[in-house]
Amino acid sequence: MQYTPGSGCDGENTRAVSLPEPPAVERPMRMPVHRATTYAFGSTQEFADVINGSRAGYSYGRFDNPTADAFADAVAALEGVRLPEPVRGQAFSSGMGALSTVFLALTESGSHVVAARSLYGNTHSLLDGLLRRFGVRTDFVDITDLDAVRVAVGPRTRMVFTETLSNPTTTVSDLPGLAQIAHEVGAALVVDSTFASPAVCRPLEHGADVVVHSATKYIGGHSDATGGVAVAAPALIDRIRAARVDLGTCLAPDEAYMLHRGLETLPLRVARQCETATALAAALQGHPAVERVDHPSLTSHPAHVLAEKLFDPGRRGAVVTVHPKGGRDAGLAFADRLRTATLAASLGGTHTLAAHVATTSHRNMSDADLAAAGISPGAVRFSIGLEDPQDLIEDALQALGNG
Ligand SMILES: *Cc1c(COP(=O)(O)O)cnc(C)c1O
Repeated sequence: MQYTPGSGCDGENTRAVSLPEPPAVERPMRMPVHRATTYAFGSTQEFADVINGSRAGYSYGRFDNPTADAFADAVAALEGVRLPEPVRGQAFSSGMGALSTVFLALTESGSHVVAARSLYGNTHSLLDGLLRRFGVRTDFVDITDLDAVRVAVGPRTRMVFTETLSNPTTTVSDLPGLAQIAHEVGAALVVDSTFASPAVCRPLEHGADVVVHSATKYIGGHSDATGGVAVAAPALIDRIRAARVDLGTCLAPDEAYMLHRGLETLPLRVARQCETATALAAALQGHPAVERVDHPSLTSHPAHVLAEKLFDPGRRGAVVTVHPKGGRDAGLAFADRLRTATLAASLGGTHTLAAHVATTSHRNMSDADLAAAGISPGAVRFSIGLEDPQDLIEDALQALGNG
């Protein structure tokens, strides 16, 4: 395998494919990217033991990858920082890769799921379409109504599923209340915490069994890598890993490197983004051209008190939704006049992004459905980036036409 001069590996092609001995570098200050999809063994015994799992080690890229593991463990360290027992992570090819793998690991034909009515669109269609076809039945409920959740769960419920902060109205889930209801019927509480990130809220501290992220958003933080991650107690994460290996939803090593690098500045970025979001929400709330602003920092927000209990001090998330007066046309005109904020999908990056909700993420909903969900036809969602707060506030004010 290794080329040693004079060892008999003298053929041109043999030498060409012989692995050079890497230079002995100790403790590099950047994480190496391990691109290998296969690993060498010194004996048939070692090969057999690692392949069957009786000995720790790497054998094949889809099974485990050191760079992806290092990324997942770093997220687990943040999510589990205050837990009495250690938790572990698994990394995935995308947020949907993480969610689909976790759902398939926790359910079987005949299982019942209780999920929030307001969910990320693809998560909703995964539960309502694909999983339903395989005999997993989901009831969608108003997740802020704990009585409705209590009525919906039953002996076949395997999972209660919600998002820490919902899109676009920034509704906050009562995680301890949901955990209690789920655990009473032996179900797991699974939380998509993408909109919060571990720098705002750590759902496992509040009774959740699995926390899932689209790492594409705040964790990566620079809008240049797609990935997902799940964190849970060791026994549960082993089941999730087994499903990941069968499904092939593994994270590529280069993406793992990018996401890990993003993670290093997560608390700094998110603290700043939350601060700016709070300032923007305060500046636009009460503006004569604005009907309502959604951000949990506002005392008018229905989950203002709950967010104080569940979220880190001063951090209320960095998504702000503005409902301009004047309906759909006013909202479209407001979004089109923005100059500092950019019209684009996604969230959690360094640039402030804006989206007219009714024509983008919620385009499949009628005005009546939007109204029932508390979304005005003109609503514009901001994902706050790292620009100077005053520039963003002035941009929003000029786009509103200064009243
Ligand atoms: C983006 C997103 C997802 C899906 O993540 P991908 O990385 O795009 O697969 C899931 N949940 C929420 C809340 C998201 O914002």
